[in-house]
Amino acid sequence: ARTAIIAGNWKMNFGPKQAASFTSNILPTLGKITRANPHVLSIICPPAISLAAVHEVMEAMPAPHIELGAQNMYFEEKGAFTGEISPEMVKELCTTVILGHSERRGYFHENDELVNKKVLAALNHGLRPIICVGENLAQYESGKTHSFIETQIQHSLANLDATQAKQIVIAYEPIWAIGTGKAATAEGANQVIHFIRHTYTAMYGQTAADTIHILYGGSVTGANIADFIAYADIDGALIGGSSIKSDFAEILQKTA
Ligand code: 13P
Repeated sequence: ARTAIIAGNWKMNFGPKQAASFTSNILPTLGKITRANPHVLSIICPPAISLAAVHEVMEAMPAPHIELGAQNMYFEEKGAFTGEISPEMVKELCTTVILGHSERRGYFHENDELVNKKVLAALNHGLRPIICVGENLAQYESGKTHSFIETQIQHSLANLDATQAKQIVIAYEPIWAIGTGKAATAEGANQVIHFIRHTYTAMYGQTAADTIHILYGGSVTGANIADFIAYADIDGALIGGSSIKSDFAEILQKTA
């Protein structure tokens, strides 16, 4: 079976000082959980400016299966791209990068083609991309979830080679469930995640589709995580609001 992944997307919360102190507080608890349970991986994704501070705390308090991720990056190697960070810069501190989050797609107009360039850049630099997909409320209510997500998967994840096709993580995050306290039902999330795996099978074959992790994201808490991971197709969760609280340790504990 696939390892469970619990990733925390801090979004635009915690500058370097707060990030370091939050990490120092929660890391011993997270480490206790991952030491006892080798089948969970936890990935913490602070804002870019706080990555170095969190990395320093993690070096000082080594814990197994706890990794660092960025929330975004640009695909170019270097140069005149004001405000951006490169794959090589991320790689200095992180194993992972979240790409194509609905907030990036919505507020910053990232489309599938851009996300795809970022995914390929991440893989070419040895980073594990967590690619986010998910429909909005209108699409959900009009029954367009599957067709919309199929397009997002096909376009965002185009042109991977056979090795790369096994190295990605997908996060299914219905936009209507993000930060709303209205999580998808575990059954509904499982159904879409099953469809995502099916779509991916058509692109890269059964072995790749069985290897990749697909997470659910959207109002996951310590109170509902168990419902999601009870499904075999749901390999963990991408956590927003609950990742900057002690709830995050509870979520990890209940997954382990
Ligand atoms: P919430 O857990 O706050 O709903 O956010 C989910 C999310 O967007 C994680 O990337």
